[in-house]
Amino acid sequence: MIGLGYDIHRFKEGRPLVLGGVEIAHSHGLDGHSDADVLSHAIADAVLGSLGLPDIGHWFPPGDPDCKDISSLRILEKAAALIREQGYELVNVDATLIAEAPKILPHRTAMQENIGRALGLPAERVGIKATTNEMLGAIGRREGIAAMAVAQVRSV
Ligand code: MG
Repeated sequence: MIGLGYDIHRFKEGRPLVLGGVEIAHSHGLDGHSDADVLSHAIADAVLGSLGLPDIGHWFPPGDPDCKDISSLRILEKAAALIREQGYELVNVDATLIAEAPKILPHRTAMQENIGRALGLPAERVGIKATTNEMLGAIGRREGIAAMAVAQVRSV
């Protein structure tokens, strides 16, 4: 079984930039109710989608005071727990970040480790890639960061 996830968040001044649970020094962070970790959100939706479960907005409603500024690694943990409850395990996840800046490569290993730990997967089963948007559209104007992801699960 496979699932697909997509997310996008706007840049906002005065917030930390968190991607894959890694805080990255940058001029802007991302706006959002949680830590706005767009990469973790896309992966969580891919995991949930693999079994046709409702998306992260169902489990972590926007505006819920309990979710304010939470680490999105908690969202990944919840998604993985829901998969296990259904009698499935994750095989791998793969994701692409779309951003003009910052550079992702120096943080890739740390992101793989954080996401792998949250999902109960070895780091090498967490694919993290990044591309620019060739300066096209909102992402190209550096207005935000998007991410897409797939997840594969199998019955235990
Ligand atoms: Mg999001």
